[in-house]
Amino acid sequence: MHIFDLHADIGYDVLQKRKQGLQNILKEYHVPLWKKGNVKMVGMASYFEGTETWEDMCEMITILKEEIAQCEDLVLVTKQEDFQKEGIYAILTVEGMCGIQDHIAEKIDWLYSQGVRIASLTWNEENMLATGCKGSPERGLTPLGVQAVKRMQELSMLIDVSHTNEKTFWDIMNYSKENVIATHSNAFALCPHRRNLKDEQIQAIAMQKGIIGMVSAPYFVHAQKEYQNCKQLVAHMRYIKELTSISTLAIGFDFMHFFEGYEDIHTQGLKDPSTAQTLIEEMKKQGFTEDEIQKVAYENAYQKVKAILCNAL
Ligand SMILES: [Zn+2]
Repeated sequence: MHIFDLHADIGYDVLQKRKQGLQNILKEYHVPLWKKGNVKMVGMASYFEGTETWEDMCEMITILKEEIAQCEDLVLVTKQEDFQKEGIYAILTVEGMCGIQDHIAEKIDWLYSQGVRIASLTWNEENMLATGCKGSPERGLTPLGVQAVKRMQELSMLIDVSHTNEKTFWDIMNYSKENVIATHSNAFALCPHRRNLKDEQIQAIAMQKGIIGMVSAPYFVHAQKEYQNCKQLVAHMRYIKELTSISTLAIGFDFMHFFEGYEDIHTQGLKDPSTAQTLIEEMKKQGFTEDEIQKVAYENAYQKVKAILCNAL
């Protein structure tokens, strides 16, 4: 079964490994795992924690693009026709826009021109645009953030709310016209972590025909280690399906196997992309039909992304 992984911090890993003098990073370290796990499409994130500059953002995105271009197994998707090409599809995403502090529309236009089609305004921090989940609960989207949301909308980019605090979430919802998604978050009702979504948030995303990528990073699956397994991750899926519908569900693993010190931190059975089909097996076990699994694993996210691909610039 093909899988679309909406969130992997590939830009970060590529930059780190380049700094160590390594080359062909995607081909050597990532493609084999995607192939083994039948991962057909990947949201490749350039990830910024809050201290990076605009130049830092440009550097990571440029190097990631270079790596994708060098790797014949990959197809960078920026328009619908790209799906006619053979390979593993790469969609550029940005996690956190702390480097954007002025010339908002111009800089978002640059991201778009590079191929970025999904982006979040913040990681966990407060920045010039918005407030992440570790920021003040009273602070939401800023006036500059409103400009960012509006420009993203004009370009049909998808706005990722996985890391926003609740106020920013609802502020974005006020401006959004069906372009909000959460690339990697689970249900707060089953695992009360600030990175997970409350019922009203899940329903609001579903109302706007958005999607939510179920995340396998263990802390968002369950607070206790013994329950950080596929069974519990699929329980999140069942919960969101019942609360909304099967159309809301997608996958955004957020595997951490390439982060130093995090090599062994994962939900049981889901170590890296090569093990992705383990989740599919668990969905079968818990009664999801073939058609439902196909939707969650690939189709829902694929259709959502495909619909926004157009040449706006
Ligand atoms: Zn994240």
